[in-house]
Amino acid sequence: MRIDVLSLFPEMFTGFLHTSIIKRAQEKGQVSIGVTNFRSYSTDKHHTVDDEPYGGGGGMVLKPEPIFKAVDDLLADDASQDIPIVLMSPQGERFTQKKAEELAAHSRLMLLCGHYEGFDERIRQQVVTEELSIGDYVLTGGELPAMVVMDSVIRLLPGVLGNHDSAVDDSFSTGLLEYPHYTRPAEYRGYKVPDILLSGHHANIATWRRQESLRRTFERRPDLLQSAPLSEEDRAYLRTLFHPLDGID
Ligand code: SAM
Repeated sequence: MRIDVLSLFPEMFTGFLHTSIIKRAQEKGQVSIGVTNFRSYSTDKHHTVDDEPYGGGGGMVLKPEPIFKAVDDLLADDASQDIPIVLMSPQGERFTQKKAEELAAHSRLMLLCGHYEGFDERIRQQVVTEELSIGDYVLTGGELPAMVVMDSVIRLLPGVLGNHDSAVDDSFSTGLLEYPHYTRPAEYRGYKVPDILLSGHHANIATWRRQESLRRTFERRPDLLQSAPLSEEDRAYLRTLFHPLDGID
């Protein structure tokens, strides 16, 4: 996958791009990432990228020219019509694991990071294919949201995670929250690992994990149960959580 990011502050990406799994994915050629400062596409003497809003009011607005030109230039060599050009915006669609999976299926992706008051509306209308928000709060710029999107997309690319299974059961991937994990020692300060996980009985462990996943989701994010794919067995287990006294005299 190729990811291009347009930002006024490329230095913000340094730690992110040179650390851990994201660094390794680039070294292994699973992803290539370019961060372009769109200020370099501003042609006036002072390389201006923002201006006062028409109609008055506070804040500065990112001008259309540098961003239109940067996108044209970066995509000039690519005839593909299917490149998501994503504007990071608190007004966008809420970013989810499902969206990360959708974006990971593309071979190319472009992320635009705003600053100040935001973008000239013509960028929204004419350049981008979608807008994504990472939550209902306002940040100073789109760089952190772009890193959030990149991180969640890159870890889904084939071979990026050492053990692919570790992404399969992740929270949200199954429509549910993930079950709890334990590691050695089997007892720490008197706190024990559930016996079932030490039993070596794979089928029972799988059932326990499924039920813990259902329980967690029921307790923390019951809204997810509306759309999660559930078997008859899952439903029967959930009924015991809804009605814990069922079957007890
Ligand atoms: N005036 C804008 C509004 O009210 O919608 C907010 C602009 S914000 C200060 C500057 C930039 O930060 C935005 O253009 C966007 O790129 C980014 N940003 C801020 N919060 C964000 C969020 N929750 N999700 C994605 N991007 C965000």
